[in-house]
Amino acid sequence: MCIFCSIVKKEIPNYTIYEDESVLAFLDVNPTAKGHTLVIPKTHYDSFIECDSNDLHHVMNVAQKIAKKMETELPCDGVNVLTNVRQAAGQSVNHFHVHLIPRYKNQDVVQIEFKPIEAVDYNEIIKKIGF
Ligand code: 5GP
Ligand code: ZN
Repeated sequence: MCIFCSIVKKEIPNYTIYEDESVLAFLDVNPTAKGHTLVIPKTHYDSFIECDSNDLHHVMNVAQKIAKKMETELPCDGVNVLTNVRQAAGQSVNHFHVHLIPRYKNQDVVQIEFKPIEAVDYNEIIKKIGF
């Protein structure tokens, strides 16, 4: 049984931020910043890629509402909104979830770094994933 499905079924306790019939948002057990929250569909999808369109919209709408509250109420100076897809991208729980990571000026230990790679053939990429 997937650990987030167990959380949805209340077999594992959680600190709930928001809940409705199809979405649950709760505090991450291993926060990388104060207020680190996970937003998930109650239905199991392995990742963002498999998620049904309605559930995806609903998860993102809830994520946006919580991010707004984080800014005004925590308060924080920014928020990282991210989802990992597959192990290669850092996914460790195979139930689609969106991380909301509040960011604080001058007191931040989170480092999300984009390191540029060598020159790439942009046209080749457009041929493959453009539509
Ligand atoms: P991923 O690495 O898959 O993008 O993120 C999984 C996240 O789930 C991690 O940040 C991890 O701390 C969190 N997590 C894993 N198990 C539990 C749990 O049982 N309860 C809660 N609240 N968070 C969990
Ligand atoms: Zn699940």
